[in-house]
Amino acid sequence: RPRVGVVAVQGAFAEHVRRLRRLGCEAVELRRADDAARPLDGVVLPGGESTTQSRLLRETGMLGPLRALIVAGLPTLGTCAGLILLAARVEGAGDLRGLDVAAAADRAAVEGLRTLDATVSRNAYGRQLGSFHAEGTWEGGGAFPDDPSAADAATDDRVASAAPVPVPLTFIRAPRIERLGPGAWPLVTLDGQVVAVQQDAQIAAAFHPELDGDDRLYRRFLALMR
Ligand code: GLN
Repeated sequence: RPRVGVVAVQGAFAEHVRRLRRLGCEAVELRRADDAARPLDGVVLPGGESTTQSRLLRETGMLGPLRALIVAGLPTLGTCAGLILLAARVEGAGDLRGLDVAAAADRAAVEGLRTLDATVSRNAYGRQLGSFHAEGTWEGGGAFPDDPSAADAATDDRVASAAPVPVPLTFIRAPRIERLGPGAWPLVTLDGQVVAVQQDAQIAAAFHPELDGDDRLYRRFLALMR
């Protein structure tokens, strides 16, 4: 069974571990460089605070090794703060007036993995604490090239052509995907806005799939390990 590492330096890692175990994976928490050096079939970057996580990944010595594994093609699932850590570009801190010094620094400083050809902006849905539920649409990545889950996707797409496949979405101070590079494909949209993407073996979502019952994103992630 697949051995999946879940980055566990901060944030919502426990929910991912529970879900992965329910889906038949061996889920291991990654807390220090040693953990990331053991063989893994996939890695999950959970939600939380991307600034804190990027600092802790650096301090624990995991940032470099994880980046090397992801660049080499290790199947990767990043959610919310995990999306921010994967994004090649984190857009302008925005208008910092009215924020105290700590909040302004927090908004600006994320030094992440930068392996996903996407531009994101942090805390971009509504107010700072804005959290909400919505129903998105499964796009399935269209004709994603060389996708090992193409068979599943084809089935999904046939269903999608009859009626859009709804995906429950939970957003918590979520980042917005502003732009995608040519290698990144939409997986889920909300009102035409891309909220989950896939680029090769990297999957990233602005929302929290670990908090809703829908396993679609996890199944896509697990299919990459076959
Ligand atoms: N607002 C967080 C950040 O910018 C992300 C929120 C989340 O992961 N739920 O890092």
